[in-house]
Amino acid sequence: MGKGLLTNAYSYRDGALHCEDVPAETIAIAAGTPVFVYSAAVVRDRYRALAAALSGTPSRIHYSLKANGNRALLSLLRELGSGVDVVSGGELAKAIRAGYRGEDVICGGVGKTAREIREAIQARLKLINVESRAELDLVNAIAGEVGATVPIGFRVNPEVAIANAHEYIATGSRGHKFGIPRGDVVATAQAALAMPHVRLVGLDMHVGSQLATLDPYRDGLRRLEGLIGEVRRVGAPLRYVDVGGGLPVAYVAGDPEPDLDGFGSLVGEAMRRLDMELIVEPGRFFSAACGVMLTRVLYRKSSGGKEYVIADAGMNDLIRPSHYDAVHRVTAVRPTGRRVTADLVGPICETGDFLALDRDMDDVAVGDLVAVHEAGAYSYVMASNYNARPRAAEVMVDGHRFAVVTARETYDDLMRLELDDPNWRDA
Ligand SMILES: *Cc1c(COP(=O)(O)O)cnc(C)c1O
Repeated sequence: MGKGLLTNAYSYRDGALHCEDVPAETIAIAAGTPVFVYSAAVVRDRYRALAAALSGTPSRIHYSLKANGNRALLSLLRELGSGVDVVSGGELAKAIRAGYRGEDVICGGVGKTAREIREAIQARLKLINVESRAELDLVNAIAGEVGATVPIGFRVNPEVAIANAHEYIATGSRGHKFGIPRGDVVATAQAALAMPHVRLVGLDMHVGSQLATLDPYRDGLRRLEGLIGEVRRVGAPLRYVDVGGGLPVAYVAGDPEPDLDGFGSLVGEAMRRLDMELIVEPGRFFSAACGVMLTRVLYRKSSGGKEYVIADAGMNDLIRPSHYDAVHRVTAVRPTGRRVTADLVGPICETGDFLALDRDMDDVAVGDLVAVHEAGAYSYVMASNYNARPRAAEVMVDGHRFAVVTARETYDDLMRLELDDPNWRDA
């Protein structure tokens, strides 16, 4: 699938940025800034494009909630037919609140607590992806206490190398903390087969995020197929192959768009060979391009020969530039045609607080609005209250309508959990 076939909901009309049919200025005035804006059309379009690419293959899409857990977004994906992939008890609670049933949910995570495992078992999830022998023992023990037999998958570390990825988003190479090492999978499967309260029905991998080519999927699947053969030979009734997430998003010109047709044929052929059902866990692919963050320019200044645009959003709102060296497109909501080379920075007391460095960008004046694009994934979910900054609002747009779906935090929210009268006890 080439660039351009996927909807771009953000466009300039009469010189001003719109999300679908809603002017960005209208949203900023109604909701304040900074604000995250999500387009329902983009989510629908991407869901349908991926579903179409997988249409010949027995499969289910389980959206990776960690990319963006906004309830309106989760409800939209649920209505489209998606399940979810959760990595914590909190994410499971959010999924249930958004209307997902146990059979719509799979759960992963390298460090599940006993409480989280119990909650997952009690919610009767479709699959719990286990990441170590010790976790397997714990799942079996808790399932025994609950009186259940639990469908589990093994997250396998396929030990594939990924080119061009930031080191923090490669997750399936030798020595990473995730998954059961390839060489231990068969022995761990034999252990699971001897346990009364687990049923090993799947193998899972997640090799990384923002995968530029299909090679990591191809290499990972080849290794997974080998392991599936071995695990079946020792007697496990395998039904699911979970290839994780990782479909990429174009953040800047030249970034790859995902080859959905190529992906569909690759996984489709593998499922036919194996006679198994596919699970995919895309996160970023659905949520990144649906979102922008709108921020207002507070000040301009020059210092040491550099130009600074100081905005009302910082690294606490969007940490991707400083955490992952991520480059987000930045445009004025009402461009004048003038350009400037500047650092777009926030108000946080850290030199690492920036949204764009040394960027040739629209020249903007105090009071102007700036859009930081492709800010729907790993953005609001990674926001913090650092510098006691309330978290931003979230707005959903659908056609000519929009709604604030998450309110901006208040100062009271920042202090809500502080106890006026702590209960001091003798140890
Ligand atoms: C983060 C994650 C995903 C989603 O990754 P994307 O790159 O956002 O598609 C899927 N599965 C697992 C296990 C993850 O940790």
